Amino acid sequence: MPRNESIKKLRDQLVRRRDALHRALEGDLSLLRELHQEKTGDILDAAADSVQDELNSQLIEAESRELTAINDAITRFDQGCYGDCEGCGKPIPLTRLRAIPYATDCIDCRRKAENRNGSGSSVLWNRVFDSAEVDPV
Ligand SMILES: [Zn+2]
Repeated sequence: MPRNESIKKLRDQLVRRRDALHRALEGDLSLLRELHQEKTGDILDAAADSVQDELNSQLIEAESRELTAINDAITRFDQGCYGDCEGCGKPIPLTRLRAIPYATDCIDCRRKAENRNGSGSSVLWNRVFDSAEVDPV
């Protein structure tokens, strides 16, 4: 399949993912509001609630970050520069884009950036799209 065709499919994937994240975020936020409205007298319940709140807020933070990355990627589609490495300007290999459709740099540039900054928040990026390979090519 030509690179252009593959990249169009990735755009569809990104749009679907963005819609799903929007829904998840809306669901999580309403759940959080419910938890805050419930008044329980039991101190153990209160502790459990605060743990749950903490988990939810971490989840929402991760989903918000991904949503931002996906919106950026869709903007790059519209500008016609999707799939080009921001570091060296070369096309990002399709295997990398299929794994991480909103990647903005090739693996070489990513490694260089991680060496500069120390290994940071890269775990999430490698896990989010691990089902992307299931699509027929
Ligand atoms: Zn590069």
